[in-house]
Amino acid sequence: MTTTDTFAPALLGDQPGMLIGADWVRTPTTRPVENPATGRVFAGAPEGTVEHVDAAMAAAADAQRRWARRSHPERAEVLAAVVGEIDRYAEELARIVVAEQGKTITEARGEVEGVKAFFDFAASHHKYRPVGELIAPTRPGETLAVREEPLGVIAAITPWNYPAAIVARKLGPALIAGNAVVLKPSETTPLSALAVARLCQLAGVPDGLVNIVTGPGRLIGNALVTHPRTSMVTVTGSTRAGREILTAAAPSIIPVSLELGGKAPFLVFADADLDLAVEHAVQARFWNCGQVCTCNERTYVHRSRYDEFVARFVERAQAIRVGDPTDETAEMGPKVSAAERDKVAEIVHRAQEQGAEVVLGGGRPTGDRFEDGHWFAPTVLAGATNDMDVVQQEVFGPVLPIVPFDDYAQAIDYANSTVYGLTSYVFTGNLDTAMRATADLQFGEVYVNKIGPEDVQGFHHGWKQSGLGGEDGEHGYQRYIQHKTVYLSYRAGS
Ligand code: NAD
Repeated sequence: MTTTDTFAPALLGDQPGMLIGADWVRTPTTRPVENPATGRVFAGAPEGTVEHVDAAMAAAADAQRRWARRSHPERAEVLAAVVGEIDRYAEELARIVVAEQGKTITEARGEVEGVKAFFDFAASHHKYRPVGELIAPTRPGETLAVREEPLGVIAAITPWNYPAAIVARKLGPALIAGNAVVLKPSETTPLSALAVARLCQLAGVPDGLVNIVTGPGRLIGNALVTHPRTSMVTVTGSTRAGREILTAAAPSIIPVSLELGGKAPFLVFADADLDLAVEHAVQARFWNCGQVCTCNERTYVHRSRYDEFVARFVERAQAIRVGDPTDETAEMGPKVSAAERDKVAEIVHRAQEQGAEVVLGGGRPTGDRFEDGHWFAPTVLAGATNDMDVVQQEVFGPVLPIVPFDDYAQAIDYANSTVYGLTSYVFTGNLDTAMRATADLQFGEVYVNKIGPEDVQGFHHGWKQSGLGGEDGEHGYQRYIQHKTVYLSYRAGS
């Protein structure tokens, strides 16, 4: 038994409740929350109902009317207090993330830094922002203003891979813009969201502005999306879920912001610094056990450097310390769930059937400590071709197919050949190649000779089936507001 089996987060109490208005609401039935490192259940999360969604929506609508009257600097002060609470409880929050999601404690601490950064950016960057524009009117004695206004109640739906940070990524801009939020976290990792909500409450965020209803996507998520009080929907999750949610929201004609799946290509040109490329390719493939939408999902290497790259990548990937995520020295934890692990095993199996060669890993790591839990070893597939499923479909696990290319045109063709368009990576020593590729890649994000994580002041957004809208920075903030045009006439005097 590892320490996380008995983990009972003090922040959430013995039996976690959902936050609806000011109340922590428990339910007669709960959904087990599992430790991915052992496969054992260590907590139960409330199983919300459509009635809970109604109650949360009513609380949110009520609170939002008052919040919208507060100025940006006043709202910013409240969010700055949230940053303070996150700081105070950072280690406990990180341990909740580890316990239910399985990433290493080092990675979880990084995620909590991200939680802080999202609230901090909302509080500091938007505190004294312009809240509209004045446009020259046609006639004297008139004012023509385009004002920024909050949307109302935001329905937010989040995934399991960053169960705390993605909550903050939505709460920060939504709240500073004057909205209230009802959020449904992934049913696999509900506790981190509840903990973030608790920290908001401790910081003095007015009751009803942050509500969490836990439960399954197609019930609770759908009830949020189709609720008559919902003014806007923001989702991070799979392309499948995004499509269903967009369809469900269509009758209400409300804005929907979608951050969906990715299949990032990692291009290594012949003139790349191979030390840099290998190290970054490894990190961008295996961070969070391969469960990041920006992960290096397929590496394309110029044929002249292919063998050398594969050998060096395998050597480096072999050295990754896979183990108990609460261990300070662990570099990679387990997959989040049995279903996710099995999905990855199936993808590797199919890749082998289609002709790829497993040159590292391929299944559960060996050793007693990996018998329970959802472990998958760092895996490398050589001899992969661009048409294989493993190269075309999102894997979301620690498996890298490496594909050779012959020239620039083929590299770009391969990179653009999937339905996804979120993140892309280019490694080259040539400025012309870097700039050409930046222009030619059909992706919302291009990293040249570096990898993420993305900056909070940037703009994280997918092209094609990777999303609609986008998060972070000024462009992300714009998703959470609407405009009101005001024509005003006054006696101008002579
Ligand atoms: P998922 O789509 O299974 O679930 C995401 C959330 O949507 C969950 O809360 C789920 O309950 C809910 N949901 C699912 N179907 C729904 C429906 N029909 N109606 C309403 N809600 C519904 O995704 P996941 O497995 O939790 O997360 C992994 C996926 O998320 C990957 O595809 C990954 O690429 C993507 N992701 C994208 C980004 C990004 O910024 N683009 C970031 C993180 C993860």
